[in-house]
Amino acid sequence: MTFALPFDNSYARLPDRFFVRQAPVPVAAPGLIAVNDALARDLGLDPDALRTPEAVAALAGNAVPGGAEPLAQAYAGHQFGGWVPQLGDGRAILLGEVVAPDGRRFDLQLKGAGQTPFSRRGDGRAWIGPVMREYIVSEAMAALGVPTTRALAAVTTGEAVWRESALPGAVLTRVAASHIRVGTFQYFAAREDAEALDLLMRHVIDRHYPGVEGPLALLDAVTARQARLIARWMSLGFIHGVMNTDNMAVSGETIDYGPCAFMDAYHPGKVFSSIDQFGRYAYGNQPRIAVWNLAQFASCLLPLMGAEGPAVAAATESINRFPAIYEEEWLRLFRAKLGITSAEDGDRELIAGLLEIMDAAGADFTRVFRGLATGLAAAEFADPAPFAAWETRWRARIAAEPEPEAVMRAANPALIPRNHRVEEAIRAAVAGDLAPFRRLNAALAQPFEVRAEDADLALAPLPDEEVRRTFC
Ligand code: AMP
Ligand code: MG
Ligand code: MG
Repeated sequence: MTFALPFDNSYARLPDRFFVRQAPVPVAAPGLIAVNDALARDLGLDPDALRTPEAVAALAGNAVPGGAEPLAQAYAGHQFGGWVPQLGDGRAILLGEVVAPDGRRFDLQLKGAGQTPFSRRGDGRAWIGPVMREYIVSEAMAALGVPTTRALAAVTTGEAVWRESALPGAVLTRVAASHIRVGTFQYFAAREDAEALDLLMRHVIDRHYPGVEGPLALLDAVTARQARLIARWMSLGFIHGVMNTDNMAVSGETIDYGPCAFMDAYHPGKVFSSIDQFGRYAYGNQPRIAVWNLAQFASCLLPLMGAEGPAVAAATESINRFPAIYEEEWLRLFRAKLGITSAEDGDRELIAGLLEIMDAAGADFTRVFRGLATGLAAAEFADPAPFAAWETRWRARIAAEPEPEAVMRAANPALIPRNHRVEEAIRAAVAGDLAPFRRLNAALAQPFEVRAEDADLALAPLPDEEVRRTFC
């Protein structure tokens, strides 16, 4: 029996220079790690059909599912600020697109599916560590209400991948509104290919911004979505880790979970990524970096806008709206975290006041905010005095709020994918035990409530459990 999916591949209908047709490279022995039942159903797919040997073979790249038109997408990008004119899918294969029963169109991509013409010196593979990290964290983000790519399945390859040592290989099936990045526009802009830029812009508007007309309106729309996305990251203590322009999706979804992390103790300068030596992508820098990336995006669109003085001024004005949109969303989200639904002038200062004492105390970001609803926040501070003073001001502010506790419980998760838990799940999987991975995923699907048996997953790491560095 062959495995087929109801593909409709709009990207594959774009001109040849947008991609290289490339099938996944087969692996030794496909084995199933996980199928995401809920996501499969949302896509109109039968989760059990994804567990058949034929499907598992296809998810590992050993067979091309019926209807797929596998390809590696071309893109460029700025990596840590340095321009790279050609990156592209070096270890990912876009199988095609499926249209869900609700009409939404999604890419199905295999990540870790072998070498492509874009691999440069890379092996085209992934090991189960990053595959599981992306599975856990992207699904947690979705459950937290953050726009994000999703994880439909993960499989092992039965092959070793060489990193510092030999590690078990794996392939992730990633689902995204699309995999079109700022870097996709940069690829064609750098080649002065105005025809391709125009086609790409129309493709993006059709897929992600229906009703938007023209490059300037698209820039406005992408800027607004990114501003709201980054505000959401900030409200959850999420650090992307590699905000290169090739890792910013124009759809407004969070994409490319590498050395990402949710912070435990709150520090605005927090960096986890082992490759981010200078803290370019630190927690507190994320809004600024988003603007930097959007400026690259804007410069790609200029040729479609006339590229003259007025176009530059309009594009600049568009990007300059980011701070106000970001600020408004940030305030809305952090007000909710404090149980506030109205707006008063001192709110920003009240929020900043809490963050300041959390920073000084090294208090756990997630537990403090969750603790505001449960009355346990004070216990997160070794020295109770600064928090007690802040709490008095806060209680006065929320006195007239109708249901602050319910608002806070819906805004402040009890569970986030804490680094030490993610790494524990990966270690267990390397040793052949998938139980911690399954348990973590199941708990994170309901991050605003904790079952008694999952109470340990809501704890901050002990000093000797704390993970300070994450790796791609
Ligand atoms: P990333 O850091 O994941 O955003 O990837 C940056 C670029 O490196 C992209 O072009 C990837 O396709 C490529 N890349 C990352 N890992 C590998 C690998 N193991 N083999 C080949 N290419 C890779
Ligand atoms: Mg990338
Ligand atoms: Mg990556």
